[in-house]
Amino acid sequence: MKKQSDLSRLMGYAGNYRYFTYASWVLSAVSALVALVPFVYIWKILRDVLNAAPNYAQAVNIPHYGWMAVLFAVLSYLIYIAALMCSHLSAFRVATNLRLAASEHLAVLPLGFTETFGSGKLRKIIHESTGAAETYLAHQLPDKYNAVATPVGLLVLLLAFDWRLGLLSLAPVVLAFLIMTTMTGKQMAERMRQYGNALEAMSNEAVEYVRGIPVVKTFGQSVFSFKKFKATIDEYEKWVVSYTKELRLPMMFYTAAVNGVFAFLIAGGLLFTTHGVTPEFLLNLLFYIIITPVISLTLTRIMYMSENKMVVADALARIDSVLEAAPMQVQAVPQHPKDSSVTLRDVHFSYDGKTEVIKGVSMDIQPGQTVAFVGPSGGGKSTLANLVCRFFDVQSGSVRVGGADVRDIPKEELMDTISFVFQNSRLLKGSILDNVRLGRPQATEAEVLAVLKAAQCMDIVEKFPAGIHTVIGTKGVYLSGGEQQRIAIARAMLKNAPILILDEATAFADPDNEAKVQAAFAQLAKGKTVLMIAHRLSTVANADCIYVVRDGQIAESGTKDELCAQNGLFARMWQEYQASVQWKVAKEG
Ligand code: ADP
Repeated sequence: MKKQSDLSRLMGYAGNYRYFTYASWVLSAVSALVALVPFVYIWKILRDVLNAAPNYAQAVNIPHYGWMAVLFAVLSYLIYIAALMCSHLSAFRVATNLRLAASEHLAVLPLGFTETFGSGKLRKIIHESTGAAETYLAHQLPDKYNAVATPVGLLVLLLAFDWRLGLLSLAPVVLAFLIMTTMTGKQMAERMRQYGNALEAMSNEAVEYVRGIPVVKTFGQSVFSFKKFKATIDEYEKWVVSYTKELRLPMMFYTAAVNGVFAFLIAGGLLFTTHGVTPEFLLNLLFYIIITPVISLTLTRIMYMSENKMVVADALARIDSVLEAAPMQVQAVPQHPKDSSVTLRDVHFSYDGKTEVIKGVSMDIQPGQTVAFVGPSGGGKSTLANLVCRFFDVQSGSVRVGGADVRDIPKEELMDTISFVFQNSRLLKGSILDNVRLGRPQATEAEVLAVLKAAQCMDIVEKFPAGIHTVIGTKGVYLSGGEQQRIAIARAMLKNAPILILDEATAFADPDNEAKVQAAFAQLAKGKTVLMIAHRLSTVANADCIYVVRDGQIAESGTKDELCAQNGLFARMWQEYQASVQWKVAKEG
């Protein structure tokens, strides 16, 4: 199947508004032709002046010609404005529809998509790439037809008055085009590919560099440990310098040819007037010299046009990266959870379709049980939690909530059944009240206050004069990680879902905050099925079952006492933990 062109894709988003786009092209081209009419009147003025010389008083038609020139210039502008109005009507429609399409598609994607794709990148694509498409349709395309109509009209004008001078002023145009082709073409495409590669290598290394900053800081290494990053920058520099040098000569000749049309005319003028100057010839020569800037301008505009096309192609490709992400499957016959149990059966999962990060995990969690996931970082604890709330779908095996496969439970119902409080639970820019109310939008203020109290948040609310109406993210309102997590806990309490997934925070600025978060967690967990990702062993001692997750598998499982008796990985972790607690006590005592 032939790939649809970028333009026809954009027109698809315009619907019936596409006729406005087409109208804008016609109007813009007409405006370009009308813009040339004043030059004809300028020629008439010059003719009258030269005919009347030296009795200039006889040139009575000049004011009339002058006004006519002004009239056509204004008319051309008005037509151009009409063209832009049409093009914008359609461009805004296309941008809106593109944004809608991307946003609607986001709604059917797995929740984990935003996380993996990067919310910043997503925002940039939806905002900026649709913006690029809008500019292309609103300005660049009408200007293209304007720029194409101008040389056609010019050609007629140039050849109509004096074909010899006309041809002469076209000579630099042909020359400029010849030079331009040496700067574009096949070789140039290869160059552009190299440029893209150099740029990509550099930005990849830059990401690695930023990721590595904590390591550099912790181990006191110097920046020179990032030799690869420096090498890519050097490579890029080398490329840019050689490219610039290569283009220096052709670009110089191109600019000279485009801007030097009058030089050709004067040389020709001298050649044609060896037998004396006729007033008629002088008239035409002056006219041609006056019109030359239009030629240069048109050429330059045409030259930049291919660039615009590349920008919009790139923008569409970026939007496609969102639109082509596979949506979540919806089951025809929905199932409903019967209770708050969670069952995993031989679950396999990978983020990229290549490396498995969960390799055959099974577990049975009864309603009301509290289970803890412990184990080394990167073992797969968070991934398991993500699979239970269907942020991603398993590759094989199944995740069941209340006996129903999560893929068969309607999205809203699943979300009503499970609450989650993650480490990086983000609060929205809105009041504390609004943020908590996200848990249950119809809750009253009194109910919100009650959960804030239960979640140990009153110190946060009382810190600000506006209380629960304090808008988070405004100037002077800063909440620490622990405080944000407590508000997120209040939100989950308000939602009151029977299954709870908690990701304990790894680090707290102060012990007071830590104690409060623990107390809030305990309140929240009452009477629920709880899956907890534990980073500290102190919190897991009372769990009904502890799962040691290592390398995508359950290495051990059981209660604390059972696991300690096994003398395995958990027993070692527990001994280390005990030793560190004793060490702390000894130090403090
Ligand atoms: P834990 O919670 O035990 O620290 P995770 O579940 O976060 O472990 O990670 C398990 C593995 O999956 C790791 O190798 C990690 O690099 C990878 N991983 C985690 N999240 C993503 C993601 N969004 N995209 C790709 N890989 C991921």
